[in-house]
Amino acid sequence: MTVPLTAPLLRLEGLAVRYGSVQALAGIDLEVRQGELVALLGSNGAGKTASLRAISRLVNASSGRILWRGADLAPLSTERTVKLGIGHCPEGRRVLARQSVAANLKLGAWLRRDRAAITADLERCYGLFPRLAERRQQLAGSLSGGEQQMLAIARALMGRPTLLLLDEPSLGLAPKLVAELMATLARLHRDGLTLLLVEQNATAALAIADRAVVLETGRVRLAGSAAELRQDPELQALYLGE
Ligand code: ATP
Repeated sequence: MTVPLTAPLLRLEGLAVRYGSVQALAGIDLEVRQGELVALLGSNGAGKTASLRAISRLVNASSGRILWRGADLAPLSTERTVKLGIGHCPEGRRVLARQSVAANLKLGAWLRRDRAAITADLERCYGLFPRLAERRQQLAGSLSGGEQQMLAIARALMGRPTLLLLDEPSLGLAPKLVAELMATLARLHRDGLTLLLVEQNATAALAIADRAVVLETGRVRLAGSAAELRQDPELQALYLGE
């Protein structure tokens, strides 16, 4: 028997989520190891957002377990998950439109007290997203959709996450911006960040992911390495339009 060298950072075991009478997730298994970029794919309503919301403790699991470094997250609040190192960049950006870019970014560090490191991280974010640097005093509401998405990601990075959960960052972006965004995520991954990337854009996500899990109506339909899934005829027929 092969024993893994390290426990996964995150492990979902039979995770199920209900919204009233709607079964959003019907028991899924998923693992994310330190340093991996795992894509969570599937069409509208497949249960991708519900998975991320359960991990961040924004919604309760109806059954199953969510393990962080082997420990159950169920008793913890969302604030505790952030403190543990789980950053969440929600769907739809949710930046504070009437606050400046800089103020939005500082908000991402709300649980931190290390002021010098916060300032250094702010500069790192501006290095990563030069367009935010140029617009740091501008109101977030005046940014383009793509820039607001960059801001939402940078704000999540300001919490210094070990694992970043990203919910459909490419939604509504022009193809050129999607490419730019994916290149930035690949760079964060190369620099050591662990990512769980929810996407409907399977082609873009599979180009940068190590592994992927495809959900369909709350269940795992396919799972494997990104390289395997790129070649998978079933996935190509379902999501890659081939
Ligand atoms: P999308 O791309 O549309 O966000 P998704 O894969 O993220 O899709 P979820 O948002 O997780 O899907 O939704 C899974 C199921 O749960 C869907 O059937 C959806 O209609 C339902 N659902 C989601 N949020 C709620 C809610 N607040 N109340 C009731 N049902 C919900």
